[in-house]
Amino acid sequence: MSELEWTEHALPLPLGRVTTATLGGEALYVVNHRDLASHRLEGGEVQRWHEPVEPDTRVGLDDRNLQVAMDPDGTLWALLVDGSLHRRERGGRLEMVAEPDVRLAGHYAHRVGFAWDAAGDQLVIAGGDHRNNGFALKRGARFIEPLPYGPGHGVGQTVATKHGVYRLVDDALWLLRGGSWGFVGSHPHARSDRGQLLFFDPTRDALFFVGELASHREPPMCVQLTPGGTTPPMSLPGSFAGPLEMHEAVAQVDPSTDRLWMIDRTGARYLPLDALALQPGVPLEARPRDRGVVEDPPVHWFREALALRQRDEEADDLGVAVRDGWVLSASLPVSPLLPLADAGSVLLFTREHAYDHDPWTLSFANAFEVRIVDERHPLTAGGMKIDFTGYREVEPIFAERVDTAHDGGAYFARRSKIGGFPALVYGTREEAANSFVADVRCEDCDARLRFVAQLAWPEFDLISAVVYLYACPFGHSGAAKAQNV
Ligand SMILES: [Zn+2]
Repeated sequence: MSELEWTEHALPLPLGRVTTATLGGEALYVVNHRDLASHRLEGGEVQRWHEPVEPDTRVGLDDRNLQVAMDPDGTLWALLVDGSLHRRERGGRLEMVAEPDVRLAGHYAHRVGFAWDAAGDQLVIAGGDHRNNGFALKRGARFIEPLPYGPGHGVGQTVATKHGVYRLVDDALWLLRGGSWGFVGSHPHARSDRGQLLFFDPTRDALFFVGELASHREPPMCVQLTPGGTTPPMSLPGSFAGPLEMHEAVAQVDPSTDRLWMIDRTGARYLPLDALALQPGVPLEARPRDRGVVEDPPVHWFREALALRQRDEEADDLGVAVRDGWVLSASLPVSPLLPLADAGSVLLFTREHAYDHDPWTLSFANAFEVRIVDERHPLTAGGMKIDFTGYREVEPIFAERVDTAHDGGAYFARRSKIGGFPALVYGTREEAANSFVADVRCEDCDARLRFVAQLAWPEFDLISAVVYLYACPFGHSGAAKAQNV
C-alpha cells in the first residue's frame, strides 16, 4: 500500500462558526452561514462568489439553524429557522421563495438533508432529528410538495448527483429519482457507532463514504458504494473529527482539482481523489423493497399533547407571591393533558438573573422551582399569554415504524408543550418509561413524579435548552430539570 498523506495547502478561505461545503453542479462552494458569503474553488484558486448579505438581512440569520445548498447555476438556496425557503443569485439579494412552514422549521444546521437535485430540477429537504418526512420545491414553485416516504428517521447524509439524490440513514442507502424514493442497499460499514460523511465524485461517477469511530481510536475508513456492495475498506490518514462535528470544519470533493478537501480554521489540506481507488462508472440503482412501516398505527401508539407558543400579548398580573430574586416563568392550568387530581395550576419559577446559573449547562441545581396550587391561573409564559395547538405524538419506541406525520408533530415535540413525551427520548420501551417517570418521589404520598410538560427556555421559542416539568399525579408536588438540546 502506498503511503497516503494529506497535503497542506494555503487556501485563503475564511471559515465562519458554521460553514457548508457543497457541490453546485460540478463546482465546489464553501458558504458561511453567518452572512451567506460564498467562495467557489476553481483549480485550487478561491473565487469570491456571493458577497455577504446586507446587515438588515444578516440580523435575521441564525447560523446554527440554517441550511444551504447550491444549484448548477451557482444560485444559493437556504432554509431558515422558521421554515422559510430562500434563493440568492450571484450578486443578488436573498429572496424568499416559500413562506415560513412549521413542517420545515427548527432544523439545526446540517441535521436535515438539504440539496439541489439537478436531475429533478428541484430543492429536496429530507429527514432530520426524529423525522423521516421529505419535501421538494420545484424550480419556480412557491409551495413545497411532500415526498412519499422513503429513508428512515434520523439525521443521515444526503448528496445530490446526476442520478438523483442519495440519502444514507444508518446503514440504509436510498435514491430519490424524480418524485419517488427507492431502496438501494444496506451497507454494514455504515455502523451507528461511527460518524459518516457521504461524498459523490462526479468525475468518476462514484459514491463513497468515510466512516470514523466516535472515539477516533481507529483511522477513518473509506469505502465506495457499488451495485455489488461496498469495496474493501481503505484506511485514511488523519482524522475527520472536525468535519464530523459539522461546524467549524468541512470536507468535500473538488472535481476541478480531483481532490478531497478538508478545511478548518487552522488551514486546508487535501487527499488526491485518485489515491482512493474509486471504481469509475458504477452508478447505483434502486430496487423495490418494503419499509415495514405500519400503514394505520393503533391509537395506543400515540399520546395527545398541546404545543405552546408565546403570544405577543402581555398576561394580566396573576397576583402570585414570588420570592426575591425569582420570577414566575410559566403558569399551566390543569387540563386533561396535565393530570394533577384537583389541583388548579402548575407554576414554574426561575432565577431572575440568568447568571445565577450557567445558561448553557443549566447546571445550577437551585435554578428552578415548581409549585402546584389550587387556584386556576390562565396559561402564561414569561408574563405573556400563550396560544396552544393540539397534536398527536408517537411513542418514541414506535417512531421507526410510523412515518412522521405531515402535521409538524416532530417540530412541536421539541418545543414548549403539555403532555406527550419528554423530548429527545428514544431507545427501548424501558428507557422511554424511565424518562417518563422521574427518579424523584412526591414528598406527601411517595408516588413517583410523572412528566407533564416541557418548556423551551428561556425564550420559549429557542431550542437551546428545555425545562422538563414533573409532577405528582395526585397534585401534591412537582419538580423540574433542564437539559441542553
Ligand atoms: Zn403526591
